[in-house]
Amino acid sequence: MLDVVQRSVALKACRAHRTVSLHSALILSKLLSLDIRMREAAWLYDVKRGKDLGDTFVDRELETHSGPSGRGRSAIYTDGSRIEGKVDAALTEWRDGEETWCSALRLDPFCTVFQAEMIALQRAIRRVKNGKDGLVNVFGDSPRSLRKMGLSLILERYAEGSTGEITKCFFPRVEQAYRVLRKVEITSQMAQTLTGHGGFAQYLHRFKLKDSSYCACDPAKILEVLHVLQECQCFCGSVWHWKRKSASLSGGGNFQ
Ligand SMILES: [Zn+2]
Repeated sequence: MLDVVQRSVALKACRAHRTVSLHSALILSKLLSLDIRMREAAWLYDVKRGKDLGDTFVDRELETHSGPSGRGRSAIYTDGSRIEGKVDAALTEWRDGEETWCSALRLDPFCTVFQAEMIALQRAIRRVKNGKDGLVNVFGDSPRSLRKMGLSLILERYAEGSTGEITKCFFPRVEQAYRVLRKVEITSQMAQTLTGHGGFAQYLHRFKLKDSSYCACDPAKILEVLHVLQECQCFCGSVWHWKRKSASLSGGGNFQ
């Protein structure tokens, strides 16, 4: 049900044909899948409640030290990083302008920076819960981390999804798609090209709207979007224009 609703919204937003897959429609409309949004909200809820999201990734504690504590409200800052293949989560506690405690954790190298950020945030919340201070400000990159975790889910789905094959020909990587599509206002023609669902003989023939799926340039060639862009003699001029435009937008086209 959720998929049906968001697909309908995404299709309208990107002006694509109704046969376009949910994956492609979401990418072209630059929308985030609703279930990923819901997961982000759930992660945030879990983290705020101090739920353990991934201590299994932590290899060892690198360093911890306590400093003098003063009066006033404490603030804990969290961060996750990857430097030279080493993934670390770090926390630092400040009170009255002085650092009173800090901790760094080394994670397994396969962990992401986002997991490091989440673990740092979780540790900060645990420290607050176990501490005597009533009120502590925790500053982290949590919304950014959650958004990145959501994005990593999209990447996974995009890479594994069997739908949206044509869209993947244009944008092998989803982050590339977002980067390019951010810069353009998508038109119906663009949506047709980037999905292959549109005025191409192959597509029209599939829905019995055209007698043949072959191109006028060669009776052996199916008239589909990649044929038009890569080899069709009838559309030669427009291909060069499209290639140049595509290359300038993405900083390097995917077509040879
Ligand atoms: Zn042709």
